[in-house]
Amino acid sequence: MTSLDAAIAEAGLIPGKSPSPLLPPDALTLFTKRAARLRSLAPGHSVEGWLSFIATLVEAQAKLITTPAKEATPEKQWLADLSALLAALPALPGAAETAAAALRKADEAELKEINQRLAAGHGTTADLAAAPFLAAAEQLAWTRHAAGIDAAASTPPATAHVCPVCGQPPVAGMIHVGGESSGLRYLHCGCCGSAWHHVRATCVACGDMKTVSYQSIEGGEEGVRAECCDACKSALKLFLLEKNPAFEPVADDLASLALDILIGEAGYNRIGGNPFLVLGS
Ligand SMILES: [Zn+2]
Ligand SMILES: [Zn+2]
Repeated sequence: MTSLDAAIAEAGLIPGKSPSPLLPPDALTLFTKRAARLRSLAPGHSVEGWLSFIATLVEAQAKLITTPAKEATPEKQWLADLSALLAALPALPGAAETAAAALRKADEAELKEINQRLAAGHGTTADLAAAPFLAAAEQLAWTRHAAGIDAAASTPPATAHVCPVCGQPPVAGMIHVGGESSGLRYLHCGCCGSAWHHVRATCVACGDMKTVSYQSIEGGEEGVRAECCDACKSALKLFLLEKNPAFEPVADDLASLALDILIGEAGYNRIGGNPFLVLGS
């Protein structure tokens, strides 16, 4: 038995079985909660304009998520969601409106190419401006899909480091409170909104348990920290819901960029990323 298996057994968990290995998103509340959290984080924040812009996108998502999918798979459906999103958005500030206008004119082939360049990390300046809209469309398509799957039939391993539904790495980990998942760590997907169980105090990238330490911003919000591994130099943000039940992984990740800078300067590479924050190569 490895030390990881021992830790899983000690926590009373059956790998991939208990308590709930996979928590699908509640499609009806995911975006309204996220938008409300962004609106509460934005005022006075150093990136207030950015958080407010993302809040506007998420508010539009909250309206569109109830529209049934037209296509059989999220890989096809996101284009329909992008078109609906661009039609539903109010007037946006400066550069965001320019990017939205360019996307409204682009045809399907061009949109697919932009998406492919972004996925490969080769986005142009214009692609990077388009990225939040494409991310929002992908979230709509994948969240609808994830909300409809049978979680009981899914058994991701207790150490899965990518989302069992859409294959993306986590945006952050959350330590849950209340119910059968209380005290457990779930990794949250920034794309489809699913969460999956992963043992605590274990590096999500390499499984190391010995060199994991925690970093946080001095004087920053309580319950926000980064789990840093010295074996592979990876880091993952963690939000402790017992400190603040309003934490929302995608919104609070964007609002805690100072922690990304801190861990980057300390020599750690972040695991995963925020779909709204695509940086050039
Ligand atoms: Zn996912
Ligand atoms: Zn590691």
